[in-house]
Amino acid sequence: MTDLLGRILPTVQKPARYTGGEYNEIRKDPGQVRVNVAFCFPDTYEIGMSNLGMRILYGVMNAMEGVWCQRVFTPWADMEEAMRRNGLPLWALESGRPVKDFDLIAFSIGYEMSYSNILNMLRLAGVPLEARERTGLSNIVFAGGVCAFNPEPLVAFFDFFSLGEGEESTVEIVSLYDKAKAEGWDKPRFLREVAQIPGVYVPSFYRHEYGADGTIAAIVPDAGVPATARKRIVEDLDNAFFPTKMIVPSTEIVHDRANLEVFRGCIRGCRFCQAGFSCRPVRKKSAQVLYRQAVETLEDSGINELTLSSLSTSDYRELEALTDKLLPYCRERRVNLSVPSLRADNFSRQLTARLQNQRKSSLTFAPEAGSQRLRDVINKNLTEEEILSSCAVAFAGGWNSVKLYFMLGLPTETEEDVLAIAELIEKVAATWRANAVNKKRGLRIHAAAAYFVPKPHTPFQWEKQLPMEEYLRRARLLKERLRNVRGVEFNYHDPALSRLEAVFARGDRRIGPVLRRAVELGARLDGWDEYFSYEIWLRAFRECGVDPDYYACRGFGEEEILPWDTIDVGLKKDFLLRERRRAYEGRTTRDCRAGCAGCGADALLKEAVCDA
Ligand code: SF4
Repeated sequence: MTDLLGRILPTVQKPARYTGGEYNEIRKDPGQVRVNVAFCFPDTYEIGMSNLGMRILYGVMNAMEGVWCQRVFTPWADMEEAMRRNGLPLWALESGRPVKDFDLIAFSIGYEMSYSNILNMLRLAGVPLEARERTGLSNIVFAGGVCAFNPEPLVAFFDFFSLGEGEESTVEIVSLYDKAKAEGWDKPRFLREVAQIPGVYVPSFYRHEYGADGTIAAIVPDAGVPATARKRIVEDLDNAFFPTKMIVPSTEIVHDRANLEVFRGCIRGCRFCQAGFSCRPVRKKSAQVLYRQAVETLEDSGINELTLSSLSTSDYRELEALTDKLLPYCRERRVNLSVPSLRADNFSRQLTARLQNQRKSSLTFAPEAGSQRLRDVINKNLTEEEILSSCAVAFAGGWNSVKLYFMLGLPTETEEDVLAIAELIEKVAATWRANAVNKKRGLRIHAAAAYFVPKPHTPFQWEKQLPMEEYLRRARLLKERLRNVRGVEFNYHDPALSRLEAVFARGDRRIGPVLRRAVELGARLDGWDEYFSYEIWLRAFRECGVDPDYYACRGFGEEEILPWDTIDVGLKKDFLLRERRRAYEGRTTRDCRAGCAGCGADALLKEAVCDA
């Protein structure tokens, strides 16, 4: 820690965010390091330290001989101001070394509303913002994470993107950089070579041309560059790197627990869900390997909470076998085992019984829509009976608190669908009255509605977002209907935030200048209510002559070239179009286990056979 940082720390909130030195942090002898990687998470320490992807890739890179990967998080506003006032550049936690002295600067991006933090971190580091301003081989800036599936709003600032799962490709990228540095390559040569690594997208090799109507007329790759870049997946999760030596945070973080990822991908096909489509196909870990990893992680870290995570954990075939093995171990050591991401349909009695003696945190279900008609449109494959019987099982098992998540503004939604949400919540309350074993504690239903954001690589990627006023009208209507229902608390998302999310999610290269301008005007920490300022963003859009509604509220044509057409996540466009049509017909599609729908993701596997 520098003297300057030492003087600043007592003046800011939560100084432990900035000191590093946690148990299991990786330190190396700088004299033995050939490649230094600053691994940046564009949000605070508490959020970044909870991110499993970051934990994995930190371990992957540090397992490489001669490579030192160090963590960098977004400073909170008080620290940022102190840094600016004192001329302290952004540094990495492990060594305190300034980010601008690193070879590679990698970002993990999972949320569009962190984009301003990326630019702000580069500014605080003193690293030139745009890729074309960084001419040497040092300070190569690249990114991965789900937002890289439409990286176009960010392309001016990044040298390349790593698409999909990074356990293997990151090693290839960093090894290539090691070679480039040793042999004294220039940056253009490194970019040409890194583009040859499967899963790497170098945007400067693709030219976007626009038509008179503002849509993309053509995407022209340079000679010798493939028309699309395909994401990477890891096939054998049992043998993939997993960080059982987890860094034990020195301050409270959002998810302070050991996290076991039971499988990747999703067998469902909820038509709004980007993760569900873009992370296909399903690949699982065996219960045996998961048990071993759980024991190793818990023994080493002393953490007393273990969670089994995935996009839909109750779809994990070996869930009962795994919980049977884990529960005695957890009970003996007073470790709480939590199983989030349960679907309301197959939330089994046995699982409830198994978890009964655990601490009763709130259960979470996401019916997304109130009416069966709309649940069929979005392919939720969930009936009201299933939702209510799952709640009945949970209430009879001792739970008194349920979180219910819905969306407003889904394609084809009517006022009837909106009111059906209130009816469903009332039925859940009635189910509690009929089934709860411990009524003294009272019922708590936390219901929340999000504003539908159309996302790339989903059947709804062409849809428009509802006008903000109409979303607010529907949200207020619902709030009014639920006002007098006992035990129910209803909240809805800030529409301005979701509007921007839609712009970034479906944006193209013309959004880059807006982003830069907004950051100059003071945009930062947009995911945090206390700092988000829609006015700043509207001013930036105005000044750059860009209409946000063009990206958010316009239905994209089915024939249109989409900004993310260069990115291949393994799905056939025909399949997405077919799913879109089925949505309008109110027809559901079976899950992958019940029958393959031919999405195309099996082609990402060596044997081209899905093991859903
Ligand atoms: S190829 Fe078939 S089984 Fe595999 S993810 Fe796609 S729809 Fe599901």
